[in-house]
Amino acid sequence: MRAAGIPALTVMATVQVAVPAAIDDAGVLLRGQPAVGQVSGVLHCAGCRTLVEAVQPHERMIGDLHVEVRGHFRLAPGHAHAVACPFDFPRAAARIARAAPAIIRPLPAGYAVKVPDSPARTFGPPARAWRPGRAGSPSAFMAGEAVVTIGKVAALLERFGGQHVAPGAFTAAWGRQAIDWPEFCFDQVSYVELVERLHAGTWPWPFLVLFTAERAGQSKAGTSWWTGQITDQHTILDGRPVAIRVTVRSHTPGPIRALELGRPALGFGSWQLYRPPTQPQRRRPPIADAVLWINQPWQLLAVAP
Ligand SMILES: [Zn+2]
Repeated sequence: MRAAGIPALTVMATVQVAVPAAIDDAGVLLRGQPAVGQVSGVLHCAGCRTLVEAVQPHERMIGDLHVEVRGHFRLAPGHAHAVACPFDFPRAAARIARAAPAIIRPLPAGYAVKVPDSPARTFGPPARAWRPGRAGSPSAFMAGEAVVTIGKVAALLERFGGQHVAPGAFTAAWGRQAIDWPEFCFDQVSYVELVERLHAGTWPWPFLVLFTAERAGQSKAGTSWWTGQITDQHTILDGRPVAIRVTVRSHTPGPIRALELGRPALGFGSWQLYRPPTQPQRRRPPIADAVLWINQPWQLLAVAP
């Protein structure tokens, strides 16, 4: 049960997401969680200057579930964000949904986002001639539009502190299954789980990865281009500790060159796990590479929070 550390409660009928940044009396910008004793006086939303208040960390019971609520900022009673405020979560989510009615469906609380049609395979090298939305396929729809929409959702969640800060606001829909967003879009806190899934080599639905395009280059053989990130996460693979790298590879340079280095990006394609060689490695711990192959430009896109 993912209950601890939820800054705003999402089990209620409406999804409540904290205001991610506030400005105090002295004009100091406060982000994320207000520290005890840090905030005093009148607080305003950093996006539109409407009144907000700081909620100190506390615990509460929902039924018999013990929930830790992290400190956060929320709208003061009776106040609303200005129309163009970037920190108005419900309005920003509704805007994304309105732009893609074929992809997003409103739920009583939050939204369901259609999982893109799978590449020919989720695991293994990509099929050479895969095209999204093959005519005649019962699940055919614009996978490219779905990925763009997911990129907008990822950007929105990043702006509000990451996808684990707004749980429940978005759900991925795969057939009749409702998938928790973090089980569908892996980010910097879930690369260990990503590697475990790739190691198992099976997973019921296609999934995406959110990473930082730290570096980019061309393979030694000159046949592919790559970008990716050496993450700060480690795991045990085949009984050995390994560092985790996330790499996106493409047989054409265009999709990789289109990214701005150092910025977040979203990838969707076919996965392969490259284990480190068994002989001793100079680098310690050795690197396990979670490699995502893409063969269409829309499978890799920049995420602009
Ligand atoms: Zn605001």
